[in-house]
Amino acid sequence: MRTSQSNTPETPARPDEPVEPRAGFPQILGNAEIGNELFEQAPEAVAVLTTDDRIVRVNKEFTRMFGYEPDEVLQRPINDLIVPEAQLGGARAYTRLLQQGGRVEVETVRRRKDGTEIDVSLLAMSVRSTSGEHVVNYAIYRDITERKRAEDRLRESEARFQTMADTAPVLIWMTGTDALCNYFNKPWLEFTGRTMEQEVGIGWTEGVHPDDVQGCFDCFLPAFHARKPFRMEYRLRRADGEYRWVIESGIPRYTGAGEFAGYIGSNIDITDLKRAAAERQRLHELEADLARINRVSMMGELAASLAHEIKQPITAALVDAKTCVRWLRRDTPDVAEGCEAALRMIQDATRAAEVVEKVRSLYKRDTSDRELHDINEIIREMTVLLHDKANRTSISIRTELDSELPLITVDRIQLRQVFMNLILNGIEAMKDTNGEVTITSKRTADGQLLVSVSDTGIGLPVSEVDRIFEAFFTTKEQGTGIGLSISRRIIESHGGRLWASANAERGATFQFTLPIDVAAASPSAA
Ligand code: ADP
Repeated sequence: MRTSQSNTPETPARPDEPVEPRAGFPQILGNAEIGNELFEQAPEAVAVLTTDDRIVRVNKEFTRMFGYEPDEVLQRPINDLIVPEAQLGGARAYTRLLQQGGRVEVETVRRRKDGTEIDVSLLAMSVRSTSGEHVVNYAIYRDITERKRAEDRLRESEARFQTMADTAPVLIWMTGTDALCNYFNKPWLEFTGRTMEQEVGIGWTEGVHPDDVQGCFDCFLPAFHARKPFRMEYRLRRADGEYRWVIESGIPRYTGAGEFAGYIGSNIDITDLKRAAAERQRLHELEADLARINRVSMMGELAASLAHEIKQPITAALVDAKTCVRWLRRDTPDVAEGCEAALRMIQDATRAAEVVEKVRSLYKRDTSDRELHDINEIIREMTVLLHDKANRTSISIRTELDSELPLITVDRIQLRQVFMNLILNGIEAMKDTNGEVTITSKRTADGQLLVSVSDTGIGLPVSEVDRIFEAFFTTKEQGTGIGLSISRRIIESHGGRLWASANAERGATFQFTLPIDVAAASPSAA
């Protein structure tokens, strides 16, 4: 873009009027010549016009800008030559304004000789004689095409940014150099349900969770003063009133000339991601619990070694008891030896008790935590967990859950064990036939919770149906026979009942009750 030069006439001199040379001004030209030169060399296109806008004189820049040689334009109305149709009304108004002694300073469009149009800034003024008579008009044109183009480019780039910002799937904001926000994109305003006016400045903090506002300032302000990028998480109120977790990152922005212009940043709603992470964590815990259940299922094998381990001290105790009796039955009973043998008996019995305790501790939870839980929730998480296993043998798991059930006080992990045992038994009962496990939950007329797990499998072992809840009873090659006995103990420890029945058509149904508002029957099933 062109800037005004020192030789641009601030108050254009009339070409024929003498110009007083200033002190120190090079005296190389006569006054009239100086005037002429200034007129000709002026970096703007200058036209001297009669009061009714006929051209008296034009300079070199005029010829360069509009393509007309001076003799082509002399005496002709300037409006006919360089004013496009659309601008004629305006141009005539300027003439009238000048006649009234006014001055015109506008940006407009003019036409070249070849018909092309050109953006110009126009400065026009009337020149009066000392007696006040309107003598001529001056029209000075500056080519502003470049500046207009730059402005258009800027507008375009701003529009591009606007479109991008408004269609991006993130919330975008900007601040000025004072750390106050001065822009929020459409997704931000839609997310918060607030207007730009409400959000600018520090208005946006009104939507930040009260517990997070301080943290936001503590992170943003030091980063802002250090001109460093920052990243923070906080809760931002969505238009529906729900606080959502967002992750916000901001970076300093600079003008093309490298000057700090403020910050720009974006926010992404990470609530669902956070939930998924929490869910993953829960599944991890579940896996850990299942590992413990697996240990329990090894009880079958342990039973054998348990028998072996206990047999040893009991045999020793028997031997010591006999020895003790022998010492005491002597004609002169040897009390000292008898006591010795009795002491060994105590040691043997203690060893046996220790073995039992050791095994017991394998499937005993260290702590019993009973809290209010939604039984349907536990059912749902177990079906999710066992979905794959069932799928592998083409078995589906269906649930019919009463959504109106109240929360009940249970040990969630123990309840999972029960579901795990019952559902796995159902799946195993159908492994050769396919089928469906159906889990239902409802409230009974007498105010209990009734849960049933039924399958369409081989059915209960008819001749030994009474024994299935006995520990170590199993009809499976790989079975341990302890799932149902543990499950029954868990349910009974919660004050409920667990029983089995044969289905009318195919398969078996296991049902259990749990008292609502349970006062635990005993602190732990184990
Ligand atoms: P395991 O499954 O290791 O045998 P359980 O105590 O869970 O131990 O089950 C004991 C027995 O009860 C099983 O071996 C099986 O005979 C019978 N049983 C359990 N669930 C079912 C079922 N859904 N259908 C048929 N029989 C079952």
